[in-house]
Amino acid sequence: MTELRFCPLCAAELGMRVESGRERLGCPSGHWTHWDNPLPVLAALVELDGKILLARNAAWPEGMFALITGFMERGETPEQGIARELKEETDLDADHVQLIGVYEFIRKNELIIAYHVKASGAIRLSEELVDYRLVAPEKLRPWRAGTGYAMADWLQARGLPVEFIELPNSS
Ligand SMILES: [Zn+2]
Repeated sequence: MTELRFCPLCAAELGMRVESGRERLGCPSGHWTHWDNPLPVLAALVELDGKILLARNAAWPEGMFALITGFMERGETPEQGIARELKEETDLDADHVQLIGVYEFIRKNELIIAYHVKASGAIRLSEELVDYRLVAPEKLRPWRAGTGYAMADWLQARGLPVEFIELPNSS
């Protein structure tokens, strides 16, 4: 996020002040407060022909695969949002969308809303994604952060073993 320095209404320099019980960046005249609320992120555990789709973002290191994620657009439900993201990023159609759960992602000030999405169609990746894998559910290995916990809960609900990947730098 770019540095916020001036009030968008009066252009006064912003400073820290207590508002609703916390120190927050805001206008000294009280016009504006940087609430810094967590941003919701949609995530999809996509099932295609009985396998789970994991994709690699162009910006990620080699070998790192994860769920399909994206932000919501104004005016859409989260279910519509995840179906749209899936179409944009993979060209797949979401046939059935079911909530897995809601997960903290405090490190990035985000809140993850994770869905199991049964999809159909032929995969055609957007430019954002460079590679994908289709993995049998029993071979999935969740990670101990964000969407990894959604994967773990989904596996557990299906009676599948949950074996976390242990990364040296995971927090
Ligand atoms: Zn102001």
